[in-house]
Amino acid sequence: MVFTEKIIDPRELKHVEGKIELYWVYTSGEAGDYFFKKLRDEGKFTAAKCKKCGHVFFPPRIYCEFDFSETEYVEVSGEGCVAAFAVAYYDKNGEKLEKPEIYALIEMDGTNGRIIHLLGEVNPEDVCVGMKVKPVLKPKEEREGKITDILYFKPA
Ligand SMILES: [Zn+2]
Repeated sequence: MVFTEKIIDPRELKHVEGKIELYWVYTSGEAGDYFFKKLRDEGKFTAAKCKKCGHVFFPPRIYCEFDFSETEYVEVSGEGCVAAFAVAYYDKNGEKLEKPEIYALIEMDGTNGRIIHLLGEVNPEDVCVGMKVKPVLKPKEEREGKITDILYFKPA
């Protein structure tokens, strides 16, 4: 089946029987690839600084979205500050969690960027906006170059 027809009138839409084959390749891009390899291989966090305006992107970008200038990779600590958080007591299926999960928006030190990730080694009642946190990574041999290589952030 080939989709070459152009639908102008929505009443012309038809029901398609059977399966539609779809293929895609997801890529995190050049800067994302660099970020995840550094995280996997060296356990280090990378941001990108605009050579013109100095804006520091996290996650890194290969060009500045404000002035379209090139950026350069800069290593950052991976530590940050909780900007907002939410506590989940139930999972996505409505099942009560054994232990609440804390999701935080973290402003990354030395950058203009943020990351959303889990907080660990802290009770929900002890979390506050402005709390300093640092990342806890998987052991090197278990890292895969994914965001889950960061297990969680804990109080610094
Ligand atoms: Zn710039």
